[in-house]
Amino acid sequence: MAIRKNNQDILQELLLGKVSPGEPHAQEWIHRTLHYKTDRPVIYVATGTCSITAGALKTLSAIRQYIEERNITALVVETGCPGFCSAEPLVDIQLPGKNRLSFREITEEKVPFLLDDVLHRIIPTENLLGQYRNPLLDPWKDIPWLEEHPFYSIQRRIVMEKAGILDPLSLEEYIALGGYRGFIKTLEMYTPAEVCQLVEKSGLRGRAGGGFPVGTKWKTALLTPAPARYFVCNAQESDPGAFTDRLIIESNPHQLLEGLAIGAYAAGAGKAIVYIRSDYTLAIRRLQTALNKALEAGILGHNIFGSGISIDIEIRQGPGAFVCGEETALLASLEGKRGMPRQKPPYPAESGLNNRPTIINNTESLANIPAIVSRGPEWFASTGTAGSKGTKVFSLTGRVINSGIVEVPMGTTLYDIVFKAGEGIPGAKKCKALHIGGSVGYTLPPSLFHTPVDYEALKEAGAAMGSGGLLVFDENTCLVDMSNFFMHFMQKQSCGKCIPCREGTRRISQILDSIIRRPVEKNGHSTLERFKGVMQLESISTVMKETSLCGLGINAPNPVLSTLKWFRDEFEEHIFDRVCRAGVCTALRTFSIDADACTGCALCARKCPSNAIIGTERNPFFIVEDKCTACGICYDVCKFNAVIIKP
Ligand code: SF4
Ligand code: SF4
Repeated sequence: MAIRKNNQDILQELLLGKVSPGEPHAQEWIHRTLHYKTDRPVIYVATGTCSITAGALKTLSAIRQYIEERNITALVVETGCPGFCSAEPLVDIQLPGKNRLSFREITEEKVPFLLDDVLHRIIPTENLLGQYRNPLLDPWKDIPWLEEHPFYSIQRRIVMEKAGILDPLSLEEYIALGGYRGFIKTLEMYTPAEVCQLVEKSGLRGRAGGGFPVGTKWKTALLTPAPARYFVCNAQESDPGAFTDRLIIESNPHQLLEGLAIGAYAAGAGKAIVYIRSDYTLAIRRLQTALNKALEAGILGHNIFGSGISIDIEIRQGPGAFVCGEETALLASLEGKRGMPRQKPPYPAESGLNNRPTIINNTESLANIPAIVSRGPEWFASTGTAGSKGTKVFSLTGRVINSGIVEVPMGTTLYDIVFKAGEGIPGAKKCKALHIGGSVGYTLPPSLFHTPVDYEALKEAGAAMGSGGLLVFDENTCLVDMSNFFMHFMQKQSCGKCIPCREGTRRISQILDSIIRRPVEKNGHSTLERFKGVMQLESISTVMKETSLCGLGINAPNPVLSTLKWFRDEFEEHIFDRVCRAGVCTALRTFSIDADACTGCALCARKCPSNAIIGTERNPFFIVEDKCTACGICYDVCKFNAVIIKP
């Protein structure tokens, strides 16, 4: 009880600036809280959603079992994922007085070997990523620095700074690392208008959508006379391949809450809401726990530290529909209506939730705010390019060696993200294209890989950051198939309110289907029909872009149009030659039987679901091309390698 009281006292003293972090008793508390000063080994296991998928919970229980069975005194701490998802399960170990070490791919079977070695101060190089740099601890000799690992070396972390380092549920650890001091400083030192100015000065632009200046948006709400205002964090991340919001929240929920609280204060909003998709269960659980702890400590809620300022934060779960990420659809969903967009203006900053001025920012934008306030706008603006300040977080996925969440300074080229942080393409294959911005994003050819991450430079290249998804395609990826995948996804996500989007996504999906599928009926698509379809793609897309009600319909054609622009030859091969060079569009493959290799066993004929194989036993069999649906079963069942596939 006494320790708890001391904890609370120091916590409050640090937050209110009554004690400096450098004072001996505060420093002692910080070092103990962060386990820099400890007399027992500390074992950290990343248990984010991606970690759990890779088996981190089994690793965690194997570690606990190892310690229990051997009666070892050690502390086991769960952290969020630091972003290196392809290296999961990640385990860090810190021995008393020594730098923390990081190990990759520690599956449950590897746990005893790893702990046998490290707890006896033998550092195995297998699975070792490196050691963290910490001037307060002794470095390990001849062990590389973690920050020099290719995945981390080009990164500059503001949003992800503490991800994977701290226990996301520990308020004490967050405060020991300087957390919530930006918020308290805001309440003590600045008026709401001054906070808006400060954020404007930092140059922070919205990290999703058009990159509108965040401080300017806040000011609009603040200057709109109203009896009440709202502030909403849009964590409705629904793009396939984008998981930035989830990871930020799972790894450091207090950082988002702090950014949200500062934003709400600046916009004059007493009520703030995190709108998050309901299937982000772990993120919701961690966020709710963090919120409860901050409320209990009096950092958020009613009359914060006697200032007379109250900020009520609520977590609301959304259905996970793509369209609910659109501002006005999101607001409709929050009002209990069906998530459908409405005409703008009025913009939400003037008239939003319950017709009150409402600010909507995405998770990444808000996670930047605590650092901007505590370290100053000049500090933030010193990173990045002339028009794009700070960093950008990407979900790096696809055919790339290192995948995960990468945070780079604005101005870094796409090439460096893929070939330095990502370490390139597995199997020495060529990188055919990059796709930036998720399912409404853009496919870019190698000639544009050196485009810097910058709002204007990407616009000039005909692209945008969008959701921050960065997909890597190698030569085995069919770009027509990818365009088809994105368009079918958008068709399912279209809310159907406006005709251009509802009918446009459906018609483009049909056209793309006709290109990658072979006709199965007599009146199926001819080459001419397919060609006419492609000609229509551009005109349908133009109508969609010019007349759709919201960003979903406006941007849904982007993947198809950008692929058509840069990779038209692949479309033409599919249309005229009926060939998929990547061998992905299985329906375009042709099957035949090598008469010399065929033993006439008849197995393929018995298995063919289309009765397309004919012949008599002990003689070579034959495939009737018109009846073949290219399912590939004959190829799989033939034991004599007699079935030949032409891509
Ligand atoms: S399974 Fe192979 S060997 Fe047997 S009939 Fe078919 S092609 Fe010929
Ligand atoms: S690919 Fe499928 S449909 Fe065509 S012949 Fe083989 S089993 Fe029959």
